[in-house]
This record gives sequence, C-alpha cells and structure tokens, in this order.
Amino acid sequence: MTPERRRRINRLKKMIVYTVLLMILLPVMGCIILGIKLHRANRSIETLEGQIAYLEKALQESIDAADRAEALLEINEGIWRGSEMEQETESLEETEIPEEMEEISGNDVMAEEGRKVYLTFDDGPSIYTEELLDILAEYDVKATFFVTGKDKEGYGDIYRRIVEEGHTLGMHSYSHEYSNIYASLDNFREDLEMLQDFLYEETGVVSRYYRFPGGSSNKVTSTDIHEMISYLNDANISYFDWNVSAGDATSISVSSEQIINRVMEQLPSRRVAVVLMHDAKEKRSTVDALPELIEKIQGMDDKTEILPVTEETMLIQHVTYEAETTD
Ligand code: ZN
Repeated sequence: MTPERRRRINRLKKMIVYTVLLMILLPVMGCIILGIKLHRANRSIETLEGQIAYLEKALQESIDAADRAEALLEINEGIWRGSEMEQETESLEETEIPEEMEEISGNDVMAEEGRKVYLTFDDGPSIYTEELLDILAEYDVKATFFVTGKDKEGYGDIYRRIVEEGHTLGMHSYSHEYSNIYASLDNFREDLEMLQDFLYEETGVVSRYYRFPGGSSNKVTSTDIHEMISYLNDANISYFDWNVSAGDATSISVSSEQIINRVMEQLPSRRVAVVLMHDAKEKRSTVDALPELIEKIQGMDDKTEILPVTEETMLIQHVTYEAETTD
C-alpha cells in the first residue's frame, strides 16, 4: 500500500465517521429544538387556558350582575304597582322575583287595566329628530324626548316642534358631560337649571321631567345620587328611568330588527313600560325601527296604548328617594 493510498483511505474513513456522526447528531438536535418548542407551546396553552378561565368568570359575573339588575327592576316595578312601602328596603336586597309579582305582571292585570307604553328618546335633538317626529305624527303617537342643551346647532325649531306636536319635553342635562354634572350637587343643579331656563326660552314650557344621563343607577357619579334626587323632589321635577331598553345605547351599531326584537321581547311582561331609545346622529337604526315598532306595539292587543310621559305616569325609577330615607 502506497502512503498516498493510505492517506486516501484515512480520509475516506474520516468522511464516513463524520457522516455517521452528523446523521446521528442532526436528528438529536432536531428533537431537542422540537422539545423546547413543544414545552413553550404547552406553556402558552396553559397561559391561554388561564386567561379563558378568567374571562369566563368575568363574563359569568357580568351576566349575574345583569340578572340582578333586571331582578331589581322587576321588584321595583312590583313595588310601584302598589305593594306596601315597607317591603322596599327588604325587597331591594333580594335577587329573586317574588312569585306574586310575576303574576301581577301577567295577563290578570292586563285584562283589567291594559298596558301603557312610553316611548322615550334620549340625547336629542339630532339630525334625526325631525324624522322621528314625522313618523310619530304619521302614526298619531305621542312620545317623550329627554333633550340636552344644544343652543349653537340651530335646533330651536325642533325643541318647539316637540312641544307643539304634543310630545313631552323632558330634560337630560344641558351638557351631558358626566364628569361635570356628577362632580358635585352644585354642578348638577347649575347644569339642570341652565337647561330648564334654556328650554323655557325656546319653547315657553317649564319642563318638569328629568332623565339622569346613565340613569339614576349609574355607577359614574361621585356625588350621592340621593342628594340629586332630593334636589329634584324639592324642585318639583320627576325623574324617569326605564324598564325596557331598545339596546341602541351601545357604540356597537345594532340593526333595526334587533331593536324591534329586544323591545318586543320585554314588553309582554310589563304593564307600564318606559322604553329607552336614543335620538343621536349615530342612531340611524332607531329611526328605521320606529314605524314597525309602533305597529307591533299597537298590534299587541287592544288594551295597549302608547302615551307621552305626564304627571300621571307611574314613576319608573332604578333608585328611589324613599329607599334611602327609610333606612
Ligand atoms: Zn344620554
């Protein structure tokens, strides 16, 4: 064997060894890398599972809260139907709807007294108010507009039209800025008086109806709502919340079908229904829903009527003044 041949053989041997080593090493490294990735993926899954569990819990809690709010509304409604005031403090803490109240809201009472539906529009005037008024006129239906103070937008005629066509002009704060009106009782009073004066100048009507922005049960106010309620009582102003919501308050747009369906789902169980809707530039679907909604309500039965809020209207309130003072 020549030295050169031996070298060649040695080189060949080395190549074979390296090749074999590589063939072993590569899959091993591949396995290690995959192993690490798998481990990481597992950890992400665990994190995600944790997040999902948390979200599910949060969702369940909000559903429960919504149920409790609904139950409170029902109970309040029951109380307004004429049960004794003593029940109030006690009942407000209950989440179950007492059986006899469900019965009251059923057909027995309907047969005797009929159903009163109050359509209410918050946040106007807007670019749609005239259209809403046209539709209401077409069906000869009177509603209630809880308006804000828009003095620079040239809505003077609209405020007047609301009054002239027999609708109720309610107040919904001048500025609608929660951070301002709910900062103190003084701010609240100042804002309200400004709106009341403004509406009087525009229409000659002193409005006696108020809807708290966010409702009297809003969680925004840093001032005790009962102080504001007490002020309203002294000023001879009734405030109205709602017990039927059209669901058009969210920033997510809802279709007119959804609005109609939501209202029509809630109406059968209400003898007195104050329906919350909105009159604002983003609320096209509320305008589109109105004609069919009116037709459906009028078609429920011949004892159902659509009315504007008046002094005779049963107060539908989420927070009541008496609830605090009887404590
Ligand atoms: Zn509002």
